[in-house]
Amino acid sequence: MNKIWKKKSQEEISEIIFKALKQNVNYDKQNILGVPASFLDEKVFYQDAAFLKDAPFISTLVQNPNHIGCHTLGHSEPFFKGTHEIEKELIEICAVDILGGEPNQQDGYVASGGTEANLQAIWIYRNYFTQEHSAQLNEICILCSEDTHYSMDKAKNVLVVDLYKVPVENDTRKIKKESIKNTIQTAIQAGKKYFIVVCNMMTTMFGSVDDIDTYVNELNQFPCEYKIHVDGAYGGFYFPFTDNYSALSFQNTNISSFTLDAHKMAQAPYGTGIFLIRKGLIHHTNTKQASYVEGEDFTLIGSRSGANAVAVWMILVKNGYFGWQEKIYILQKRAKWICEQLEALKIKFYRHPQSNIITIKSEFIHNDVAIEFGLVPDNHANPNWFKIVIMEHVTIEKLMSLLEKIKINIPKEIENEVI
Ligand SMILES: *Cc1c(COP(=O)(O)O)cnc(C)c1O
Repeated sequence: MNKIWKKKSQEEISEIIFKALKQNVNYDKQNILGVPASFLDEKVFYQDAAFLKDAPFISTLVQNPNHIGCHTLGHSEPFFKGTHEIEKELIEICAVDILGGEPNQQDGYVASGGTEANLQAIWIYRNYFTQEHSAQLNEICILCSEDTHYSMDKAKNVLVVDLYKVPVENDTRKIKKESIKNTIQTAIQAGKKYFIVVCNMMTTMFGSVDDIDTYVNELNQFPCEYKIHVDGAYGGFYFPFTDNYSALSFQNTNISSFTLDAHKMAQAPYGTGIFLIRKGLIHHTNTKQASYVEGEDFTLIGSRSGANAVAVWMILVKNGYFGWQEKIYILQKRAKWICEQLEALKIKFYRHPQSNIITIKSEFIHNDVAIEFGLVPDNHANPNWFKIVIMEHVTIEKLMSLLEKIKINIPKEIENEVI
């Protein structure tokens, strides 16, 4: 681990970003007459404000580099090659130092979010099956658990492939082998031969982590082809630091791609989903008609801000690999603390031991308490669960005041229960 990801001081970070910006085009000083782009509107965003020289991220925003396309393969637009290099290093840190890939063996880009990264994955595998296996669209389907993010329902709709959801057990959020088997059987009876499996590395509502081997073992029993994508939009910057021997890494040859979201646990600005895929697959979504873009376009999004890649890179190298481990360690400590308190009060909840989400059964949470503490329900119309997410700002002090309020509202029959 930790091959590329080195901690850097603020001075080093500034120097690297400003050097990269110098390698990008300068609309002021150079003749750039053919692109529909310029720096941000000067009347609103001052180009030479004194503070900018100490503000590499804001400087990048103002210079507004476009990161259109995918920069880990082929050619890219020469205009923004400085910040493209930063993005390439970011992709490498995520693929190699977080997810255990071999250096230079993955492609990837900074997507608008987890939704886009997930759609990108489904798009690639759908095209892979149609192009390499002459599959018909109605022979391809997505297979995932019922706790999977709703972006899969979007993928089904946009990419016109069926979606099969495997039920999970209510209390453990685990997928049973039998349920996977039954779901695959149903899909095969409906004519499906090609499966795009989405395996969760922390689900949005529960923080549960799917057992990839159960999927693999069951799929191997059937005459079908499959590709596996891991949705780590939630857990990608968390779970690899709490479970060092995770089966969910590029070391696992069954996995082809990952989604990570830096705008969730990594506290980056919105617009920082990260899509990573083993080399040799992303060409299935090469839009050759993007002929005015140098290097063409393999991504779903098109134009996108280079400042997003710079922001995530800055966050990661400022913390460093070990700093990140410490950050996650603290969140884990707090999660453990609240779980111990809830257990003592006999309040029913779910938590995966390597996650920072605590999901409490709704009968223990009065609606007013949920509103006061911003607890999110699984279903706004008819909540079964409310979740606490232990973020940087979710301190023990704040958790204590929540506990006080929960205590007042413990249902009588549970309070009177004899241990
Ligand atoms: C949040 C989330 C997504 C979607 O990410 P956006 O960045 O909101 O598009 C996808 N999958 C999981 C597991 C998530 O938690």
